[in-house]
Amino acid sequence: MASTHGSLLYEGKAKQVFETDHPDEFLVHFKNDATAFNAKKHAQLEGKGSLNCQISAFIFKFLESKGVPTHYLDINGDSWMLVQKVEVFPLEIVIRNVASGSLCKETPIEPGTKLCNPLLDLYYKDDDLGDPLLTDERISLLALVSSTKLLEIKTLALTVNGHLQEFFKKLNLLLVDFKLEMGLTKNGQLVVADEISPDSCRIWDLNTYDQEDRILDKDRFRRDLGGVLEGYSEVLRRIQEFSS
Ligand code: UDP
Repeated sequence: MASTHGSLLYEGKAKQVFETDHPDEFLVHFKNDATAFNAKKHAQLEGKGSLNCQISAFIFKFLESKGVPTHYLDINGDSWMLVQKVEVFPLEIVIRNVASGSLCKETPIEPGTKLCNPLLDLYYKDDDLGDPLLTDERISLLALVSSTKLLEIKTLALTVNGHLQEFFKKLNLLLVDFKLEMGLTKNGQLVVADEISPDSCRIWDLNTYDQEDRILDKDRFRRDLGGVLEGYSEVLRRIQEFSS
């Protein structure tokens, strides 16, 4: 396993990606930076990187066990993950089971409405444009991905949702919505990349009825509810308890 990193290849809002001594493997560092509203809101939360790294690692391993290919290879210390090199599509793939966030800002659907079928929304990953909502026709116009690959992406995203919904339910957690990123390995395999953590998911505690107290994800930061790390820690605690 690669244990030291080479040059910094890319730095995002919450992660850094480094080269390793293996050309097909990267090291991802999960940062403590918390950002929201296209980085207009920013803070340092000591321990967030480690929590997201551990939670993501567990979820990637769980998905692999269900036959879903991911970029995950190994954990490499507290907040470092070894991953396969992947050409990531410039798409944010959002799956919603319960209405929240932008869906409720942009449509008349009330927050908390359970959706009869999961809703899949695709956004163009471009901070300067504010990650706009895409249509299949716009994806084709921009030549972001072929229609065959798009169908594969959507099918895999819904499969991931099925597995994660079931898994979180066992932890008494409700998977409200989440964002995935996907890409192609050098062999052309479609894999789930990036992270799956309380930064990229909405997760509600099914043991708690209070509409604010039940939130265990980044909405605690977005909405200044406090207890951000406590929420993330509770998600990790339940995952660890379940897997022990
Ligand atoms: N999401 C994300 N990164 C983004 C945008 C959204 O991880 O750049 C996640 C977000 O945490 C939520 C889901 O995708 O779990 C749906 O987000 P939404 O479209 O409601 O946007 P928001 O109002 O959260 O910005």
